[in-house]
Amino acid sequence: MARPIPTPNDLTKPFWEAANQKKLVVQKCDTCGKLQYPPALICGSCRADKDKLQWKEVEGKGHVDVGFTIRDSRIKGYREMQPINFCVITLDEEPLLNFLSNLPGTPAGTIPVGAAVELIFEPVSPTQLLPEWRVVAAN
Ligand SMILES: [Zn+2]
Repeated sequence: MARPIPTPNDLTKPFWEAANQKKLVVQKCDTCGKLQYPPALICGSCRADKDKLQWKEVEGKGHVDVGFTIRDSRIKGYREMQPINFCVITLDEEPLLNFLSNLPGTPAGTIPVGAAVELIFEPVSPTQLLPEWRVVAAN
């Protein structure tokens, strides 16, 4: 499946390296204790410098917050995948943290708002795994 391949830079390299070890890491601020994602050069809460930001593994559990289905994107790389779901996942461990997901395994157009999701990893290139989210089957 063709999809945009992430290009790690100095800032995001630890995130992608952790993903290849099937870990989801976010930045944690030593000064104010807040977690943040996506990675940034300073703390978005207290503006502390990058050297105060450490990487921390988070538990891969969350919920579908909102979502929509793209049917006519002109973005190259998504065209062949349409229709495709885009969802905002809220992390249970830190509800202020959000991740975008295509919700693999869930049919496009049916977005289960509020559903529990779990972290999975999908290959996006021969050398890179991407954190993704999958709806947890109801018991
Ligand atoms: Zn901070």
